[in-house]
Amino acid sequence: MQLQVLGPHGGELPGCRSTCFLVDGVLALDAGALTSTLPLDELVKIDHILLTHSHFDHVKDLPLLADVLVGRRDSPVTIWANTECIETLRENLFNNVLWPDFTRIPTAKAPVYRLKSFKSGATVKIGRYTVKSVPVTHPVESCGFVISDGESAMAMSGDTGPTETFWKVLNKRDDVKLLLLETSFPNALQALADISGHFTPQTMLAELDKFDRRDCQVVLYHLKPAFVDVLKREVKAMPVHVCEEGERFDF
Ligand SMILES: [Zn+2]
Ligand SMILES: [Zn+2]
Repeated sequence: MQLQVLGPHGGELPGCRSTCFLVDGVLALDAGALTSTLPLDELVKIDHILLTHSHFDHVKDLPLLADVLVGRRDSPVTIWANTECIETLRENLFNNVLWPDFTRIPTAKAPVYRLKSFKSGATVKIGRYTVKSVPVTHPVESCGFVISDGESAMAMSGDTGPTETFWKVLNKRDDVKLLLLETSFPNALQALADISGHFTPQTMLAELDKFDRRDCQVVLYHLKPAFVDVLKREVKAMPVHVCEEGERFDF
């Protein structure tokens, strides 16, 4: 599998893009940085978009992507997410008020997007990947994932504070080669991280104690743009890697 970092941050500023990764050029994980990073000929190759949850920094490029894809593909792009997230997109985004309903444009039979929901915790087949979803700890229903192509696997925590099931699921497997793990706020903002369902470096490190890591590379993402420098200083001595936009991982 190849993972491309399109947006490693939990928000946006010049030099920082919102959460978005691309697996093998065809499966996007969250949609915080699609139209702002990829040319049209690469955007049209994305068949599936898998969302961790409905927060804006994770869905923000869905409307603009729909706009550039109209008439460019033979089949709809499938947006996959937990039931609560799909409901939120239908009611609040593709509602013909904030943005046109691209699940019926240009026609209801051949739209730009098809929305597919699953119950948090379910395993779904997405293209050639088997995706296990795991509910994590966040103010809205948020999922972590284990994504396998049958030979290798990677995991993504989603936005989360301290959590249990995700680690139990990971510890039962020996095929996970790369873990994308959120870390959002510096240690000084622990109270804010706790109420908003996020990690600081100190809670992230404590969390790694629950993980039987084996040879898995731990890659941090979702650094809040206003705190990137202090976060990088705080994790410097820790056994983790902070990913950068444009970075690629093969595993
Ligand atoms: Zn977020
Ligand atoms: Zn969130």
